[in-house]
Amino acid sequence: MRVGVLALQGAFREHILLFEALGVEVEAVRLRDHLAELDGLVVPGGESTAIGKLMDTYGFYEPIRERCADGMAVWGTCAGAVLLAKKVVGGVADQRTLELMDVTVRRNAFGRQVDSFEADLDVEGLGGPFRGVFIRAPWIEEVGEGVDVLAEHDGHVVAARQGSHMITAFHPELTGDTRVHRLFLDQVVGAPDAAGMQG
Ligand code: GLN
Repeated sequence: MRVGVLALQGAFREHILLFEALGVEVEAVRLRDHLAELDGLVVPGGESTAIGKLMDTYGFYEPIRERCADGMAVWGTCAGAVLLAKKVVGGVADQRTLELMDVTVRRNAFGRQVDSFEADLDVEGLGGPFRGVFIRAPWIEEVGEGVDVLAEHDGHVVAARQGSHMITAFHPELTGDTRVHRLFLDQVVGAPDAAGMQG
């Protein structure tokens, strides 16, 4: 199994270190050629407008979608969640995204006063609370059919999955807890029916 972390802007190093700690082969993806051999890709947190612009400049949009059509799994954290959504609200007009998941994501949704916070989350499949680190986080405002909600906070969806794609509004790479990374590897990348499944 080989995973990549899109390394254009944002918190990509933290994901790479965590995958390394889990003993997984992991690559910093800076050019679209790096996508070729990947079973899974993480689009990290950071600034979704900046990451999106760099994805455009380096020609990542179509190649990522093509690799997904052949079964590559993708996980977006925070800004990465914005970039996987079919629809984005609360941000710049006409923000381009990968449109891999049938969800509407609201940018910076938790508002100024609670810009950044931590909360214990009950994440589906983890068997115990997970400390969610939220930094100017989005929430998932609407989910389409076929999208599974994995976690909620204060009545808002903060983690979801559709086939071989997953999004979390929080940052599991900033905690020492590897359970969400394992969940991605074991249940999303490693799902027996991952190939051919598309969001
Ligand atoms: N607010 C950022 C955005 O919408 C996301 C913040 C983050 O990734 N921590 O792009």
